Amino acid sequence: MAKTKASKRGKKACPNCGALNAARQKVCTKCQKPFPVKATASSNGSGKQKKTTRKARRNVMALSDAKRRFKTASVMFSKIDAGLVLVQRAGSLDEAYQVLQTIERIRGKE
Ligand SMILES: [Zn+2]
Repeated sequence: MAKTKASKRGKKACPNCGALNAARQKVCTKCQKPFPVKATASSNGSGKQKKTTRKARRNVMALSDAKRRFKTASVMFSKIDAGLVLVQRAGSLDEAYQVLQTIERIRGKE
């Protein structure tokens, strides 16, 4: 008798007990031993990786450009934020303006 039958297409023999299992089976149906996972997915993915790296490089460039823009925008926003805080603290826009004038007067003396 043949020890292990030539595995049919879509079937695989269990390395532990020799029972034929469906290729998709992750665990042997007879002895419950897990099948070793073949590294076919990673070798197939090499073609896709080139695409993603090219795309990723473009993304990095876009990101750095966005960062540069965001930096200037965040500076503007921080000034607006500071202005809003000043208005809130002073109670009104007029009072905030007076505070600013006072600060500028003090600065001018230094
Ligand atoms: Zn088995």
